[in-house]
Amino acid sequence: MSLKVRIFPAGYIQTNAFLLSDPERGEAVLVDAPHDLVDMVDKALAEDGCALKALLITHGHYDHIGDVAKFARRGVPLYGHKADKTLFENPACMQAYAYPPDIDLEGFEVDHWVEDGSRLELLGLECEVRHVPGHCPGNVLFYFPAAKAAFVGDALFAGGIGRTDLPGGSFSDLERAIRERIYTLPADTVVLPGHGPNTTVGDEISFNPYVSGE
Ligand SMILES: [Zn+2]
Repeated sequence: MSLKVRIFPAGYIQTNAFLLSDPERGEAVLVDAPHDLVDMVDKALAEDGCALKALLITHGHYDHIGDVAKFARRGVPLYGHKADKTLFENPACMQAYAYPPDIDLEGFEVDHWVEDGSRLELLGLECEVRHVPGHCPGNVLFYFPAAKAAFVGDALFAGGIGRTDLPGGSFSDLERAIRERIYTLPADTVVLPGHGPNTTVGDEISFNPYVSGE
């Protein structure tokens, strides 16, 4: 395995996209696609000699999906949770919450619906999907046990949690999902959130001020 993980903060509010590439296999997978990402990804793919095999979408908020339609037009298969179907197909329904307010929001159709417990094989690695609603109905995490890495979208941040005041949000759902579906991952799992720096499951269990691990 020669897995490389690049982090690309992109778009107006610096949403993290993650490119996982394996130059030996010549394949790569992208997690989320904020606005202004395509050129950075293309440069990295060219450097590594990799083709993009999948785009995993953690959730349907506009700042995570601004460039998804561009990848979809190239035939990159899209993965997401059905609870965010409306946000994927009609992201302009969140226009009132978007910054800048006139940002162009283009919808798309997901090719592969995933749900809690779905198992994917990507880059020759197992990837487990876990449903972590509460920030929005369809937030999922993508967990790669061999890489000890979980891409969690906006469910959990280093020392923080996702907003629960947006449409479809629920603090009690988010609290339960973090306890049952993130804090149950091995403590040394690296948590890669949709904004800000990485953390680990163990650090958040010990120190997260919003959802304790007790
Ligand atoms: Zn979000």
